[in-house]
Amino acid sequence: MTNAADADDTAANTAAADAADTDAADDDRWLTRAVRLATANVADGGGPFGAVVVRDGAEVACGVNRVTRDLDPTAHAEVEAIRAACRALESHSLAGAVLYSSCEPCPLCLTAGLWARVDRVVFAADRNDAAEAGFDDREFYELLERDRDTWPNPVVSRRIAAAGAPFEAWRSAEHRDPY
Ligand SMILES: [Zn+2]
Repeated sequence: MTNAADADDTAANTAAADAADTDAADDDRWLTRAVRLATANVADGGGPFGAVVVRDGAEVACGVNRVTRDLDPTAHAEVEAIRAACRALESHSLAGAVLYSSCEPCPLCLTAGLWARVDRVVFAADRNDAAEAGFDDREFYELLERDRDTWPNPVVSRRIAAAGAPFEAWRSAEHRDPY
């Protein structure tokens, strides 16, 4: 037996499913764009990574890996896309935007996305695919999960007397712009 409440629930569930389908179709479309950028970038002498920042259904900016071309170890596709998107929007926040990447973001890029306050991160290939192609994404994720004492590169804390001074300056700054 169907009553009015059940019918409403069914309609709501159908609408939600349609929305999810639309989101999935949009995700696939933007991922395809990111993957094409990544593949084209190889032919252009760069690394096999591409990313797109999308807001309100439109592309804000894209990026490709330029590490070797620009001699910049941080010039990953996602970082490039985030930088370009922030310049385009004249803002340090990408709240309301989605970061699409041809491959699972490495720790650097994932954190860059968090700092940029993107709403979502969506990727196509994953860290295992990247590892098979010779990239260290998975290795760095595994490293971050281990005790720092076991790292091959020491990360050293030395709390010198002036360590807190920058934050004291920040807290007393009149025109600070929190981010
Ligand atoms: Zn990265």
